[in-house]
Amino acid sequence: MNFEIFNFKPSIMANIKDLGYSVPTPIQHEAIPLIMQGKDVIGLAQTGTGKTAAFVLPILEHLQSRQNKGTRALIVSPTRELAEQTCKAVNQLGKRTGLTCITVYGGENIEEQSRRLHGNPQIVVGCPGRLLDHLWRGTMNLSSLEILVIDEADRMFDMGFLPDIRHILACIIQKRQTLLFSATMPEAIKRLACNILHQPVTVQVERQQPAQTVSHTLYPVQQHLKTSLLKEMINQIKTDSVLVFTRTKHRAERLAQQLIKEGHKVKTLQGNLSQNQRHAALRGFRNGSIKILVATDIAARGIDVSSISHVINYDMPDTVEDYIHRIGRTGRINKKGEALTLVTSADKGKVSDLEVVLKAPLKRLTLKGFNYNATQNYQKDFKRQNNQPPRAQNAIA
Ligand code: AMP
Repeated sequence: MNFEIFNFKPSIMANIKDLGYSVPTPIQHEAIPLIMQGKDVIGLAQTGTGKTAAFVLPILEHLQSRQNKGTRALIVSPTRELAEQTCKAVNQLGKRTGLTCITVYGGENIEEQSRRLHGNPQIVVGCPGRLLDHLWRGTMNLSSLEILVIDEADRMFDMGFLPDIRHILACIIQKRQTLLFSATMPEAIKRLACNILHQPVTVQVERQQPAQTVSHTLYPVQQHLKTSLLKEMINQIKTDSVLVFTRTKHRAERLAQQLIKEGHKVKTLQGNLSQNQRHAALRGFRNGSIKILVATDIAARGIDVSSISHVINYDMPDTVEDYIHRIGRTGRINKKGEALTLVTSADKGKVSDLEVVLKAPLKRLTLKGFNYNATQNYQKDFKRQNNQPPRAQNAIA
C-alpha cells in the first residue's frame, strides 16, 4: 500500500516523494482518512511512529482545497524543539502548496513574532505560554481557525501546561476540527479530550511498545561507578552518535564536562540553556560534529535526528512511558538502534515494570575489563594500573 490511496493533490504527493516516504506508517494509514473526513481524532502514538505527518498531510490537503484567509491551523506543542520540528515537517510536506507556517514560543523576541503573525500565516505551531501571550495581547487572531492540533498532550500535562491549553481553547469560539495526539492517556488528558473533542474517533498504534528495530540491554552497576562505566562503554562500544539521558540538568552538565575531559565531542540539552545554545547543540548533533548529546527528558522532547545509533540511559527513567519516549530517538523508521541502560539495585522495580511492558526479560551485560568492585577512585586507579586510558575492545561478557 502506498500514499496514492489518500488521493492527495499532486503537489503534496511530490513533496512526499521528495522526502522518500513510500509506505504510510500504521498511524498514517489509520488517522489520515479519518482526519480527511473532518472527524475529531485522538491519536495514541508515540514519537517515531510518523505521527507528525499523520496530521500535517491532511491539514495541508484541507487548507489547499480552499483559499480562506487568516490563521487556519494551529498546532500546540509542549516544547520549542518539537514546535521547530513540526514546522519543518509542514514546510517540507507543504513545499509546493504555497502555504506558510511559523513557530511561536518563549525565549524569542515577541515583537518580531507579532510582526510575523501580522502576516497571517495559514499554519502556526507554538508552545502554550507564548501563544497565550499573543492571544491576550491581541497580536494573534484565531477567528479563522479551522483545525486545532494538540500534540504530545501527555507531555503537556506533565509540564503543567493544561491550564494554558484551557485558556487558549477559551479563545476559540467557532466550530473547528480538533486532533489530539498523545503517547499515553492519563486521566487528565481523557477529561480534556472529553471536553474539547466532538465525537472523537480513537486511533491507537502500538501503544507502549517501542520500535521493533531497537535492542535493549541493561548494565547493572553500583551508583558510584556509573560515570566510569559510561566512559568505558563509550570507549568500547562502536557508536555513531549517542544520546545520553540523565535525570537532572545539573547531572547532565557535570557528566558532559567529564566526557569532554576524556576528549569526546559533547554538548548538553537541558532546560537552562538559551535558545541559541539549544539550537547550536542540536545543529552540531545533526551534522555529526557533536557525537554525544547529554540531555534531560523534557529538553530532549521533539529531537528528530535520524542517525542516533545509541540511546544510553545514564539514569533509569522514572516510568515506562519515559523509557519508550527516550528510546524513540533511536531505531527510527527502517533504522536499527540500541538502548543501553545503567541500572542500580534501586531501579529493580522500574526494571520489572519495563519487562512486563516489553513482554520479555531484558538482556543484562557486564563490560569486560571493568572493575565492578572499585571504590570511588576507580577511573584514576584504572589509568594508573594500565598507564593509559582503557583500550577499545569489542568483547562484552
Ligand atoms: P514522528 O513520529 O512524526 O516524529 O516521525 C518520525 C520520523 O519518521 C521522522 O523523521 C519522519 O520524517 C519519518 N517519517 C514519517 N512518515 C514516514 C513514512 N511514511 N516513511 C518513512 N519515514 C517517515
